[in-house]
Amino acid sequence: MDSELTRFDLEHVWHPYTSLTDPLPTYEVVSAHDCTLVLDDGRELTDGMSSWWACIHGYNVKELNEAAKGQLDRVSHVMFGGIRHEGAAMLAKKLVELTPAGLDYVFFADSGSVAVEVSLKMALQYYSDRVKTKTKFLALRKGYHGDTFGAMSVTDPEGSMHSIYRDFLSQNYFIDQPACRFGDPWDPDSADQLYEMLRDHHEEIAAVILEPVVQGAGGMYFYHPEFLRRVRAYCSHFDVLFIADEIATGFGRTGKMFACNWAGVTPDIMAVGKALTGGYMTMSAVLCSKKIMEGICNGSAGVLMHGPTFMANPLAARVACASVDRLLAMNWRETVHHIETVLKDKLLPLARYDSVADVRVLGTIGVVETRNPVDMAVLQKSFVDDGVWIRPFGRLIYVMVPYIISDGEIAKLAAAVEHVLQRNLV
Ligand SMILES: *Cc1c(COP(=O)(O)O)cnc(C)c1O
Repeated sequence: MDSELTRFDLEHVWHPYTSLTDPLPTYEVVSAHDCTLVLDDGRELTDGMSSWWACIHGYNVKELNEAAKGQLDRVSHVMFGGIRHEGAAMLAKKLVELTPAGLDYVFFADSGSVAVEVSLKMALQYYSDRVKTKTKFLALRKGYHGDTFGAMSVTDPEGSMHSIYRDFLSQNYFIDQPACRFGDPWDPDSADQLYEMLRDHHEEIAAVILEPVVQGAGGMYFYHPEFLRRVRAYCSHFDVLFIADEIATGFGRTGKMFACNWAGVTPDIMAVGKALTGGYMTMSAVLCSKKIMEGICNGSAGVLMHGPTFMANPLAARVACASVDRLLAMNWRETVHHIETVLKDKLLPLARYDSVADVRVLGTIGVVETRNPVDMAVLQKSFVDDGVWIRPFGRLIYVMVPYIISDGEIAKLAAAVEHVLQRNLV
């Protein structure tokens, strides 16, 4: 865009988590294809972020483009109240088949945060006639569930700066993230806080909400799947619902189709988003069990009190169907496993740098945790100069790569990370 428009963007447009009075630099993307972002000056960057973890197939994907174009020529949007369309029904069927057994009812929403809101509302509404005291949630510290108020109230209190919104935010219960890491032998003490909290407060707690196995935006932390089995068991025992937020982990990201599959558990409610449409457009879905569906529909309200304008948008639904089909057709399990092997090969050696506290890899997620907070602008520039797109935050330099990435492209991402470590930029 011309320099006037660029200036207007800089001065008038909010970009996420940065200031308008002292903005971090932005880079202009004019097109993208495969695993490559093309900048306005012609530079090509290898993408290590999947655009906030959503573009699992990369960019400008033929099948996904065709799905969108085909639907565009018929109807790009129509209300979902009183109307049905093939794309939504087909997608719902695919999701019911793909998710853990027992999640048979699908609510479409328009973003991850809204899916979390709907999940919380389902849990509250389920109990509203039956156990009036159940008005709170139990969540994990360092968790992330979105930026709307309900989602924020179950997101890490420090990370989402609860203090700013304190008087408006619902007060929920938190326990520490499970101490037992993914890959370590299970330590039963890791579920003690969970048990004690549920034992002492189950009369007030409607549901436990968590990100299964991988805590994403709150710290890219991988914990032992046995914790999920404990959540499932204790929730059933204490009559508390289990909400799995699979918005970041769904669709193969961790090496299983859903992270809950690591533990073989079925939550009562599951939220998916991000990669649902292959990152093409915004859409999310909430799946629930028959128990929840019946509890709500046989309750005094009789309906779920939610209905977004763009619910089940036909374009998004068609693209999501195409994305799921492509995932199932591509031997995703082997692909993700291969990427994991290459990421380990390239990233684990970086642990030898003094500035690095930890390196961990799971599925297509690679994390280099530094000892000190990174200077985002400095690192971003170094990465772009090296021809890669990696956006670190806090003490985390991480990649979450598209599944179509080549070994050479992974090597390029890792080399760029090593380059900032070599020059002591962190
Ligand atoms: C990104 C994310 C959300 C929020 O999704 P949005 O589409 O950004 O609203 C919720 N939960 C998890 C685990 C996420 O990673």
